[in-house]
Amino acid sequence: MKKTSRRQFLKVAAAGAAILTTGKASASEMHQKVNNNTLSMLYDATKCVGCKACMAACKRVNGDYGSLSYERASFDPDGLWDAPQDLTGSTRTLIKLFKESERDWSYVKYSCMHCQKPSCVSVCPVAAMTRDPQTGIVDYNKNTCIGCRYCQVACAFNIPKFQWDRALPQIVKCDLCKNTNLRQKGITACAEVCPAGAISFGKRGDLLEEAQKRLRENPGKYLNHIYGEKEVGGANHLYLSSMQFNKLGLPVLKDEAPAEFSEKIQHTIYKGFIAPVALYGTLCWIAVKNMRKHGPEETDHHKDTDKQGGA
Ligand code: SF4
Ligand code: SF4
Ligand code: SF4
Repeated sequence: MKKTSRRQFLKVAAAGAAILTTGKASASEMHQKVNNNTLSMLYDATKCVGCKACMAACKRVNGDYGSLSYERASFDPDGLWDAPQDLTGSTRTLIKLFKESERDWSYVKYSCMHCQKPSCVSVCPVAAMTRDPQTGIVDYNKNTCIGCRYCQVACAFNIPKFQWDRALPQIVKCDLCKNTNLRQKGITACAEVCPAGAISFGKRGDLLEEAQKRLRENPGKYLNHIYGEKEVGGANHLYLSSMQFNKLGLPVLKDEAPAEFSEKIQHTIYKGFIAPVALYGTLCWIAVKNMRKHGPEETDHHKDTDKQGGA
């Protein structure tokens, strides 16, 4: 009898331990350190001359693979090409100009940040968004995607775009030229063509060193901040600028990744379950023990009561 109740108690305790162990494994995965060996780009806004060669190269090189295309000017029926106003279902990267005054202005380039802890990957219910742990490339698989667009909602940088105008729409975002320029030439198309050296391509660690060197050697030229180094757990797309990044449309974000935060909540809830589950197990064990102990007397009492009732 005693043996059975102990076994039950141990089962409950083991179940609790299993929950705790599972939580710890996932949490440690999410708390992995930033990987500085991943492929990265450093965009230096102070060097950019706004020529948009990077945008054109991106569309030219990735046109077939990424379903990109030049956009016709809505006002021109004669076939002139328009410059897109925003990242779209046919535009993976965009150059914009921010102008505060005649003296204070800057170009800025938008494209996927290739976050080290990407929310788009974390929320995708069918793993259509994936992150390669070796290269750090956050990629998209159109054959797996079910079009829920959770990735769009989850991205703090508002990067993934949906092809609303197509019969078979897909999500569009930079994949670091994974299947095109990177595969053929070992460098991204936008970095390859930039005539001003505003886009550097390489390992994250090397680009961070380069960015730090530029900050050290040019005091007063740059804002003392490498955007993407720490934001949302670190990104592979890094930025240098002379202006506040939020003015350039790059949001002010915490160092902690939202994906990491949501996992923390999950695991806190799991951990919170351990005490009640263990307490419940203990109470069950005591109850079973007491029932066994007092069971025969209670049975006799009921028998007596039944007899009295029957008399
Ligand atoms: S910037 Fe957005 S789309 Fe790109 S990896 Fe990060 S969360 Fe995903
Ligand atoms: S890395 Fe390739 S896909 Fe990404 S913005 Fe540059 S050219 Fe476009
Ligand atoms: S190609 Fe270079 S200089 Fe020209 S817009 Fe792009 S980043 Fe700027």
